[in-house]
Amino acid sequence: SLTAGIVGLPNVGKSTLFNAITKAGVEAANYPFATIDPNVGMVEVPDYRLDELTKLVNPKKTVPTTFEFTDIAGIVRGASKGEGLGNQFLSHIRQVDAICQVVRCFEDENITHVEGKVNPLADIETINLELVLADLESVTKRHARVAKIAKTKDKDAVAELAVLDKIKPVLEEGLPVRSIEFYDEELPIVKGLFLLTSKPMLYVANVAEEDVADPDSNELVQMVRDFAATEGAKVITVCARAEEEIAELEDEEDRQEFLEALGIEESGLDQLIREAYDLLGLATYFTAGEKEVRAWTFKQGMKAPQCAGVIHTDFEKGFIRAETVSFEDLKQYGNMHAAKEAGRVRLEGKEYVVNDGDIMLFRFNV
Ligand code: GDP
Repeated sequence: SLTAGIVGLPNVGKSTLFNAITKAGVEAANYPFATIDPNVGMVEVPDYRLDELTKLVNPKKTVPTTFEFTDIAGIVRGASKGEGLGNQFLSHIRQVDAICQVVRCFEDENITHVEGKVNPLADIETINLELVLADLESVTKRHARVAKIAKTKDKDAVAELAVLDKIKPVLEEGLPVRSIEFYDEELPIVKGLFLLTSKPMLYVANVAEEDVADPDSNELVQMVRDFAATEGAKVITVCARAEEEIAELEDEEDRQEFLEALGIEESGLDQLIREAYDLLGLATYFTAGEKEVRAWTFKQGMKAPQCAGVIHTDFEKGFIRAETVSFEDLKQYGNMHAAKEAGRVRLEGKEYVVNDGDIMLFRFNV
């Protein structure tokens, strides 16, 4: 399963945010087979469509879908040279599928900034540079090896060399691989290089409690936004400290009160969860029966049989077709029967690319 890694310099609020994730996270008892790794936090994906489907169908049980965050502590300047826990840190990043970079945008005299003062752009640069340098090292090594093989006119080596030739100068300029546009046929080669800077990145600006309601009044946040725009990356704002307190509240009314006091409608954590899910290229389809209404995660672009396989491998093997209706249509017509009468329920086959928000009923041979 895919996981989003949380990175950032020391003292920017990573642990505080990760604590919020694990406190808000699903109860281990509900997921007995989940990995018990202290650096992994499993979260439920908030989805208003699941709530509305529950109202429509009135099932015995509602089950949200989940995914994982991984806490990656320990980056410092010089990590790519093995400073601190550098190498370990980089190997942890290698294992995640998307990166959420926490950036400090709050002032607090009592909390030391590792670089002496609060400067989110310098912080981003420090981290991104370590990742670029680590990639440059592996690309340079690989380039030397592949160039030799390419001399023999080996087709694969020639193709890979062309990709490496495209990547190397960009890294040398200090820019991430994700800033390069590749041709479709180059993408599998890029993927096979397992580079750190080819992973999608989301910036998480950690702001003071006073700034949550109107984060753009904080000029540090503006700086982060301007920088992220140059990469085509998204920025979300949270107050990690407040999120940790919110996550401790069990009562929904108390949570609402807290959010109101902060002047926001949705918790920053919920926003982070949705954005990270999207960054990972994940989407949701639903199954809706009287016994259970449930959200399932699939990778954007997956076809119906593969999506059926998310529930059970037998569903994929024996897939015949799927009765499919979009969430909007089901909502408009109120129930499956009425949606069918209106011709909004489709019978889809093996080649159907499932859409986010589809409600699926799979037909299969056992
Ligand atoms: P990490 O080293 O990145 O994991 O940072 P921590 O989560 O340990 O946070 C470092 C310090 O900053 C702790 O004392 C936190 O309580 C504090 N901190 C974290 N988030 C906020 C925030 O939003 N506002 C303020 N004022 N302090 C925060």
